[in-house]
Amino acid sequence: MKRLLLPLVLLLAFTAEAQVKEKKIRKYAETIKAKELNKKLSIIASAEMEGRETATEGQRKAAAYIENKFKEFGLQPGNGNSYQQVYPLYQDSITSQSLMINGAVLDVMKDYYLDASSATGNWTINNIYFTGTGMIDTTIDVKDKWVLTDEGRFAVLRSKIGWLRRNKAKGVIVVSKGLPAKERFNPKGRMSLQPASNNGFPYLTVSFSAASKLLNTQIDSAALSQLIKKDYSVDAAFNVVKTTLKLESTNVVGVLPGTDKTDEYVFVTAHYDHIGKTADGVINYGADDDGSGTTSVLQIAEAFAKAKKKGHGPRRTMVFMTVSGEEKGLLGSEYYSEHPLFPLDKTSVDLNIDMVGRIDPKYKGDSLNYVFVIGDDKLSSDLKPITDSINKTYMSMELDRRYNDVNDPNRFYYRSDHYNFAKKGVPIIFYFNGTHADYHRPTDTIEKINFKLMEKRAKLVFYTAWEIANRDGMLKRDIPLNVPAR
Ligand SMILES: [Zn+2]
Repeated sequence: MKRLLLPLVLLLAFTAEAQVKEKKIRKYAETIKAKELNKKLSIIASAEMEGRETATEGQRKAAAYIENKFKEFGLQPGNGNSYQQVYPLYQDSITSQSLMINGAVLDVMKDYYLDASSATGNWTINNIYFTGTGMIDTTIDVKDKWVLTDEGRFAVLRSKIGWLRRNKAKGVIVVSKGLPAKERFNPKGRMSLQPASNNGFPYLTVSFSAASKLLNTQIDSAALSQLIKKDYSVDAAFNVVKTTLKLESTNVVGVLPGTDKTDEYVFVTAHYDHIGKTADGVINYGADDDGSGTTSVLQIAEAFAKAKKKGHGPRRTMVFMTVSGEEKGLLGSEYYSEHPLFPLDKTSVDLNIDMVGRIDPKYKGDSLNYVFVIGDDKLSSDLKPITDSINKTYMSMELDRRYNDVNDPNRFYYRSDHYNFAKKGVPIIFYFNGTHADYHRPTDTIEKINFKLMEKRAKLVFYTAWEIANRDGMLKRDIPLNVPAR
């Protein structure tokens, strides 16, 4: 009896202490309320933000709103005395172009389309080699030749274009059934972090009607597949002039300093940009993508800041970062990972939230109590047990890990900002609700958000961040990132 007494007292004391601790954490988690999430999202996904396209006024308004919230919570600026990390963006824009075949001027979008990544210049084409449809016979010599090919499947086309470039073809004309097209010509190319060099490749897409004029014979897709692979004499000229637009955007960073492990960091991230307006000026509100994640980051930051004010601040430094450029190719997070404000080897984890306000209509299971958890089986063997025990203690949600497989055809592991942390070796978890019909459409609006479910998901992230910020060690990095590049 006596021998048992001491451990029992200790056990009871320990359990009591754990319960007090648990109660305290729950108190701060309870400040993450559906009503509060709704209030913030109604601003982020409002018409005033114009769909938050990177390098537009709408994105800057969203950044200013987030910065003000971080200040209001009492977070410190993450970039010296600024809450914003500015980064440059470059975008090629076509200022003039023309295509003539047999002396006649053709119409853009009706007869032809020029990709903004195409090289600039003036070309006269007197001879063109037709490769046949589908894959190219790689024994042919295309050096200094203009090449005509079919569009076909995107993956095949991409590999053909790559092969033609590597083998020094002069340029390519692709015959596409996508022309004539209804939409207007968009002179702007992709944004990128570096200015594009003009070693680009002239790359022209033409309609079957334009191809018929070019070859002086009627061409449809059946005729194209029968056409002999050889050089053809043609009379064509095209001209393209571009300018490079220099733009900028920002990541918004708020910091809550830790108490005793101040030089170690826990990141909670989301992207605040979206895709702006459609060609016809209709706003893509991006309430779920990723207004929901941005709002969750704000609410989690507020909960941590409240805890700190009551003397329960986290041991590690919390960094709350909302990035832009995600929809342009994860550019804001890529810039961050190349220009980190805090050492990446001291960054214990990135918890990235991208789309947590909706229900995947195909979800089989408790659709009011689930989240897809992606990446917690990689980089650190600490992550999954933490997620599971936190969920068991506090949330009891269905954690669906089906997308953890890097060979999953959806490739979600590569498709949000956590990827840029993971590729630098920082353990990550990506929280996600799956897709739905309103994805990247003007109908991704706030009315369709399930705030009760979003609250649960944000709480799960909060508890996980709390645990990782307060445990004795950083997450160990004991699993190599054995996945192909994006
Ligand atoms: Zn997104």
